[in-house]
Amino acid sequence: MGKIAIVIHGGAGPDSAFIKQNKERYEEGLKQAVVSGYQVLKTGGTAVAAVEKAVQSLEDNGIFNAGHGCALNNKGEVEMDAAIMNGENLKAGAVSMVRNVKNPISLARLVLEKTNHVLISGYGAMEFAADENVPLETDSYFISEHSRDEYLEERNQQSIQEMLRKRIHGTVGAVAVDAKGNVASATSTGGIPNSLPGRIGDSCIIGSGCFANNNTCAVSSTGDGEFIMTSVVAHSVSMSTEIMKGSLQEICDHVIHERNKGTEGQMGVIAVNANADIGISFNSPRMHRAWIDADGKLGGSIY
Ligand code: ASP
Repeated sequence: MGKIAIVIHGGAGPDSAFIKQNKERYEEGLKQAVVSGYQVLKTGGTAVAAVEKAVQSLEDNGIFNAGHGCALNNKGEVEMDAAIMNGENLKAGAVSMVRNVKNPISLARLVLEKTNHVLISGYGAMEFAADENVPLETDSYFISEHSRDEYLEERNQQSIQEMLRKRIHGTVGAVAVDAKGNVASATSTGGIPNSLPGRIGDSCIIGSGCFANNNTCAVSSTGDGEFIMTSVVAHSVSMSTEIMKGSLQEICDHVIHERNKGTEGQMGVIAVNANADIGISFNSPRMHRAWIDADGKLGGSIY
């Protein structure tokens, strides 16, 4: 049996009074999620199943900006994006602008497994969800007290650029390697609070918010989606492992701190390769994260 490992994140961005006040809740949520994904790996499950499980746990938690705890757009509505990728065969599934789907990451996995598409959005994704009988929830399930407060506080903000300057972020993600040496990544988000309706971020864009290749690594990104998309961050990490020397940690640092030096965007990545090496890097004041490494050691941090 090969080495197994998992890393998860709960978003990169600025610190806030809410984050400080809820530090223990965040830590507990991260721990629960990383352990749930690790259990899948430990019992012989695939990396794809492990990242789905960990992200489901974060989506269900309610404190992270995904699933139950989604950010709201500037009409006070929920629009969720998610993506999952299998590094064994480079197959990916993603959904964008979905509503009412309890676990968008599981719908993304169904796109991967049951269609020959990569990304399905809007009403088509909702029809696909209905056809697949995925669990649905009412609108109110997705609107937490925190996301409603955030929306009400900021609702006069119309421009995404202004929202980006405020740097309110969330998003969740996971990367894992299973006992067969296959890697996978998953990312899920409620997007940026008060964004224009129809805005799509990086999380569901393969190569930006999510990428996995057994020959390189699996990556999940978080932060200012507009910058992550234009810098194609997840694929940059993967490609850099092919053309650069150095550990996975050094390569993640290179992409975030050197390649994207001068960027106005705040961003963070988590990565794992087939050898169970881990890389975590971010240029923001905090990135919620946790991991269980090849020695079975649990770690985590927010700052
Ligand atoms: N990257 C996400 C988006 O732009 C937000 C985040 O990671 O906080 O939709």
